Amino acid sequence: CGIVGYVGPRPSQDILLSGLARLEYRGYDSTGIAVISDDGELQMRKRAGKLQVLRDDLTAHGMPDGTTGIGHTRWATHGGPTDANAHPHLADHDRLAVIHNGIIENFAELKAELVAEGFTFRSETDTEVAAVLLGREFTASGDLVEAFRAVARRLEGAFTLLAMHRDQPGVVVGARRNSPLVIGLGEGENFLGSDVAAFVEHTRRALAIGHDQIVTITPGGVEVTDFDGAAVEAEPFEVHWDA
Ligand code: GLU
Repeated sequence: CGIVGYVGPRPSQDILLSGLARLEYRGYDSTGIAVISDDGELQMRKRAGKLQVLRDDLTAHGMPDGTTGIGHTRWATHGGPTDANAHPHLADHDRLAVIHNGIIENFAELKAELVAEGFTFRSETDTEVAAVLLGREFTASGDLVEAFRAVARRLEGAFTLLAMHRDQPGVVVGARRNSPLVIGLGEGENFLGSDVAAFVEHTRRALAIGHDQIVTITPGGVEVTDFDGAAVEAEPFEVHWDA
């Protein structure tokens, strides 16, 4: 339901949690965050319930911080509101983390294909199918953008997907089809959000992303392409918001 992504010089856990707090108005049943920690591991924590449940969990059982991160508030459509069904979903031996807004309509058919290949699943969500597919494609190409291009073309329905891989720290990739995603431009840091609320406390400079497009953010830049890899010029806009 709500999405936030960050790459930059700052530890990202607080940035993700406060972005999720600003997205709470949309309603949700579960929350979660993942970061690539400074020692190069992927760290993830997710909980059914309010954002405070996740905050309390992180306070009680600390998690190493990192400067690349993604965060999610879920409004369950496939699978009940449980810890296991909360996002992020991990794949590629827990080295890849994925969050998703929307519905992947052909997930049952894709899941059957992956199960036949020997992949296993830990949730009942449509989202985990996209995560496992991305993991499979990352194994083939070693590149998250390449993996997104291959996967985005196979998904039907509405989605905003964000992913990051332990082997590509400092990179968050997103794709959208019929579901919102915007870029926030900072100084030496960049953001992604399902709406500008996700990053408005950090920057007012934003870029709109069109449908069927893939965006890559790094601390130093932003790249947008269509699902075939052709470069796209994203539309700049100024965020007007009284916070
Ligand atoms: N369909 C996904 C799920 O049920 C994402 C729901 C959402 O947009 O939050 O987990």
